[in-house]
Amino acid sequence: MASTGADDLYDYIWKVVLVGDSGVGKTNLLSRFTKNEFNSESKSTIGVEFATRHVTIKGKTIRAQIWDTAGQERYRAITAVYYRGAVGALVVYDITKSQTFDNLNKWLQELKDHADSSARIMIVGNKSDLRHLRAVTQEEGRLLAEKHKYSFIETSALDASNVGEAFNNLLVDIFKSQVEDPT
Ligand code: GDP
Repeated sequence: MASTGADDLYDYIWKVVLVGDSGVGKTNLLSRFTKNEFNSESKSTIGVEFATRHVTIKGKTIRAQIWDTAGQERYRAITAVYYRGAVGALVVYDITKSQTFDNLNKWLQELKDHADSSARIMIVGNKSDLRHLRAVTQEEGRLLAEKHKYSFIETSALDASNVGEAFNNLLVDIFKSQVEDPT
């Protein structure tokens, strides 16, 4: 969406969704990126929520509207409206829980079914601070991403490692596909 008036504070507004099993750290990745906050409580509110952050890429201001399932995935499948209009997705697993990695196939299929085929996808292995509990190697994450031609990164919402990179790299990827090389 191009800027149309002097009051506009951004050039583009993009919807990005967070998906992945309950407990992998989606809410904390979002709060780390948008508010620089971390919450160690596992209880989350039910219902779809989003938070926004403005980023600048090549002189353009992007209003990133990042959606969080906020626990919805625990009780039922996420509704199609969650994915509608998304130009990017962070697909998150917990590096200490192989089940959350195995379930990525389910989440990737959901994205294929409901999101636009041009949406850019990044696979995110979260909780990299818990090295001693690691159950999924970096190599496994990287190989899965390579297989699908998606990006890959490991993050820690707790110590903030790579969180900015995860969101920013995805937004740069979206910028390339939406602005620089739209097909
Ligand atoms: P969600 O259900 O995917 O939104 O996950 P939450 O963000 O609610 O996080 C679930 C639990 O994992 C909470 O207890 C968080 O404090 C914890 N958690 C989230 N991210 C990290 C992380 O990077 N490292 C560690 N050690 N714990 C995390």
